[in-house]
Amino acid sequence: MIASITLTDHLMKTYSRQPIAFTHGQGAWLWSTDGKKYLDGLAGIAVNGLGHNHPKLVKAIADQAARLIHTSNLYGIVEQSALADEVCRLSNMQEAFFCNSGAEANEAAIKLARHYGYKRGINNAKIIVMERAWHGRTLATLAATDSEKAKVGFGELPGGFVRVPYKNMAAIEQAKAENPEIQAVLLEVLQGEGGINIADADYLRTLRQFCSDNGWLLMIDEVQSGIGRTGKWFGFQHADIQPDVITLAKGLGSGVPIGACLAAGPAYQVMGPGSHGTTFGGGPLVSVAALTTLQVMAEEGLLEHATAMGQLIRATLTRELAGVAGVREIRGRGLMIGIELLKPCAELVAIARDKGLIINVTRDNVVRLLPPLVIQHEEAELLATELAPIIRTFLQTP
Ligand SMILES: *Cc1c(COP(=O)(O)O)cnc(C)c1O
Repeated sequence: MIASITLTDHLMKTYSRQPIAFTHGQGAWLWSTDGKKYLDGLAGIAVNGLGHNHPKLVKAIADQAARLIHTSNLYGIVEQSALADEVCRLSNMQEAFFCNSGAEANEAAIKLARHYGYKRGINNAKIIVMERAWHGRTLATLAATDSEKAKVGFGELPGGFVRVPYKNMAAIEQAKAENPEIQAVLLEVLQGEGGINIADADYLRTLRQFCSDNGWLLMIDEVQSGIGRTGKWFGFQHADIQPDVITLAKGLGSGVPIGACLAAGPAYQVMGPGSHGTTFGGGPLVSVAALTTLQVMAEEGLLEHATAMGQLIRATLTRELAGVAGVREIRGRGLMIGIELLKPCAELVAIARDKGLIINVTRDNVVRLLPPLVIQHEEAELLATELAPIIRTFLQTP
């Protein structure tokens, strides 16, 4: 039953890939090389918010490609300027640095925090990070990430991070008492790779105030939770707080690689000429893709839609899995959904795939759903009603 595809040995084996490849997509659907159709419950890991083959995105990219793809950050880039304006307007931030990935966005945030400290006379500024955090795979972002599996074999990683339990203010106060060099806190308001863990508004507001009181930067990693994924433009908006630094990537370019580090307040203009840079970041093509993504999301009301579809999926799963032993919790916000089981469930990915569903499992026992924000009512219902019996059968099989 398992489809087979042939892949070259000339690829570094950094992924144990599933035996499937896709040729094209439409909305929330993908077609594999052997002609089968799949309902996409993952959107390339929270990337394809507009779904596949969105006509406005395709046209905007094609038109821009025909005009200008790349110049350099040595020059003005009008498309990048327009994107900076729009992303700052939506997030209430003041300035943006564009790069090419989530890890790079966080790398920029980490450098910004260190430079912020440096300008205040602290040479080795420390940053508080969370248990179960995921911030990327460059050496510094890996150090900020809480995954022993991802770190093993890479030797000494950059220091300067102080790890505390998620959603625990007392631990932050204690960290402060022990580390006078702390200058910032970096966290996800909804942890994605960490298993869809949600920080409550009370904690986030208290943390916001604590950072302000201590002159620390509050830096929010919205790489996964940003760009409408949770039903608001950014996850922190559920708590009505204003961060000093925000990092973005995944959904921002709808699949065209782009990341961003936004700064405001005390983080504004910390970085000056020569302090940071990138050859590709924020070029004309990717900037147009991101700008079009934001425009289409607004035009199509995708924030409200993501909220409604998320509720539908969670409610349907809750109903269909009611009373099933082995389901610990169904949680999430908008279209960032986790189904935590009481046992490891990595096999579910292949079982669901054989039945035409693309899903993901993270932290061994959490089924993660990140469907395109454009998923239609019937498709959302289908995803939940098809997935529930798969989970039920899996849990009831010893
Ligand atoms: C995916 C992710 C990253 C890393 O992004 P890359 O584009 O893979 O480098 C960082 N932070 C969070 C919260 C993520 O989900």
